[in-house]
Amino acid sequence: MLPYASAADIRSKSIQESVHWAVVKSNRFCLFCLMNSTQHPLPCGHSLCEECVQIRGVSIFGNESAYVVPGCDLCKSQVTAHFSLKPVTAGYRLLSLDGGGTRAVIALEELRLLQESLGPLCRVQDFFNMVMGTSSGKGSSLHRPFQTNAPSGGIIALTLVKCGWELERCISTFIDIAKKTFGAEKHRSATVTRRLWRSLRCWLTDGKYDASAFETALQSIFGPRNRLFQWASNSVAAKVAVTATSISKPSAFIFSNYNASKSRSKE
Ligand SMILES: [Zn+2]
Ligand SMILES: [Zn+2]
Repeated sequence: MLPYASAADIRSKSIQESVHWAVVKSNRFCLFCLMNSTQHPLPCGHSLCEECVQIRGVSIFGNESAYVVPGCDLCKSQVTAHFSLKPVTAGYRLLSLDGGGTRAVIALEELRLLQESLGPLCRVQDFFNMVMGTSSGKGSSLHRPFQTNAPSGGIIALTLVKCGWELERCISTFIDIAKKTFGAEKHRSATVTRRLWRSLRCWLTDGKYDASAFETALQSIFGPRNRLFQWASNSVAAKVAVTATSISKPSAFIFSNYNASKSRSKE
């Protein structure tokens, strides 16, 4: 080793000399630097923080915020991974997608207008640093069982960012899901008995809509084993988060493909 090796070089040598790191995985802490929270999963299942992407990756000529990581030192995987970080000179561009069942079509039409103004060379999801969608609403009792929002914002956010689909495909898929799930819940025209049954089901199953219909639709899109914090070659650079809550216990949950960026030393 060089007499003035950097901390990153010393850590790299330590990792390469050990075989034990291959079986250790964490989706919270970067095992390369042991300092920061992870932000970018690798194809092998390990993951890197933002700093380690820049230290271990090679920047792409002409795009100073894009990096190629040529493998994983922890498990010796040779599979390369591409990452696009937020350019240091760029501001934060956030897209928030609300729920509301079929009313999410309004947001999709607004995105379609934005896409038209951006032109064909820039996909609308590439225009944002972060996309957040509402997965399910509040509403917690029999007294207001139909005030919940549908998970429409979350579905749109995930298909745009996690799947990396074109906007038109997201729109057609969402309309198809809406017909199969939200369309079956026309509670306004339902009988009193029907509404009471839905209220009871809402309380018993902790959800407004038919969970089996949603599960079938979502598994057809994302697959049965796909995780949010997991490498996907077709994902776009934006961070994505989906909010959720429980009807029986109105606590907020956030599911995301990133971690909070504070380092362990600050915790
Ligand atoms: Zn790191
Ligand atoms: Zn690995």
